Amino acid sequence: MSTFQAPKGTYDLIPPSSATYLAVREAIAAPLRNSGYGYIETPGFENVELFARGVGESTDIVTKEMYAFETKGGDQLALRPEGTASTLRAALEANLHKGGNLPVKLWYSGSYYRYERPQKGRYRHFSQVGAEAIGVEDPALDAELIILANQSYRSLGLSDFRILLNSLGDKECRPVYRAALQDFLRGLELDEETRRRIEINPLRVLDDKRESVQEQLIGAPMLRDYLCEACKTYHEQVRELLTAAGVAFEDDPKLVRGLDYYTRTTFEFVHDGLGSQSAVGGGGRYDGLSEMIGGPALPSVGWALGVDRTVLALEAEGITLDLPAATSVYAVPLGEEARRVLFGKVTELRLAGVATDFAYGGKGLKNAMKSANRSGARLALVAGERDLAEGLVQLKDLQSGEQTAVALDAVVDEVRRALA
Ligand code: AMP
Repeated sequence: MSTFQAPKGTYDLIPPSSATYLAVREAIAAPLRNSGYGYIETPGFENVELFARGVGESTDIVTKEMYAFETKGGDQLALRPEGTASTLRAALEANLHKGGNLPVKLWYSGSYYRYERPQKGRYRHFSQVGAEAIGVEDPALDAELIILANQSYRSLGLSDFRILLNSLGDKECRPVYRAALQDFLRGLELDEETRRRIEINPLRVLDDKRESVQEQLIGAPMLRDYLCEACKTYHEQVRELLTAAGVAFEDDPKLVRGLDYYTRTTFEFVHDGLGSQSAVGGGGRYDGLSEMIGGPALPSVGWALGVDRTVLALEAEGITLDLPAATSVYAVPLGEEARRVLFGKVTELRLAGVATDFAYGGKGLKNAMKSANRSGARLALVAGERDLAEGLVQLKDLQSGEQTAVALDAVVDEVRRALA
């Protein structure tokens, strides 16, 4: 193994493509910031108990994929595999729900860790931007989150994605459905692990990707037919609000998702250019989660969008984001005196908000101009002893090659004019 290799299932974000990741995070966050969501940052690890209780003992995430470890001090911790449980834990700890101002609306952005089988779009370290609206049961809140996620993707220029929508029922109707589904599943030819799953979390069997399982699931009872009146009405309102907002969605009665805490509204954003790892984001309502982790009843809803897969979706649709140039002006000093003067100009330009870089290391003219071109700058600022003696610098347009002499104290204005 080479010393210079990132661990399996991980990769580094490096320039220039890392700029796209930053822009994607920003594009996902922008509609949230504009809709009353405040930024929250929680630790990269938590007590393992939080995820065991919050995400669910029967989920793959907890049983197989969690990076759990014991610290030197004997604490049982785990790298966070998702953001909702941590966010809710932090909100409860800070008593945000007691301010009398519900819902508590929070957004986050960060790294998550799952010990998965790596493949394209599935990594052991990945990044998400997420949003949670805590403490209110209102179909408009569910609709808001779906509309905002849709707005994020649209603002990036994405269009080849679909929104899948389902209701998972609540603590009234889901148990009745669960029992009916278990009855049905127990009559099928299934391997031992799947049989165990029937007893712990039968809904997840519906999500089994194997054809041999899917074939047998034809005719399985559908949750849709078991929803209580309250859940039906709630779901209908979410659907109406989305339709009124012009957000297209598909009803997907089989959508379950891999986490145990969801109730009522669940949704997934799938991108059709991504192959098997097509889910770019997902979320839903989790009315019971707060109680599961030991808090008060706090009906809530949220989502997390995957940054890595959103970048892959951009590539799949051939979208290049229109990003501001990393460098607009590149300064090339010829000689010691020019170095001192131009370095001052670089600082001045940067203070004026112009993205500027400098030929460090005493490069010769040819090399320095190569670096200027490589930097992507539109303009080069070149000065030698003779220019300086006359109080001038040369401003060179790197596209046209055109060069004009500019008075030293007019540099900022002239650069601004040239870039406009
Ligand atoms: P989940 O919490 O599993 O619903 O994940 C939400 C989103 O995070 C998914 O739709 C993906 O875009 C992203 N995601 C989840 N797991 C991974 C992973 N192992 N690698 C890359 N992205 C992931």
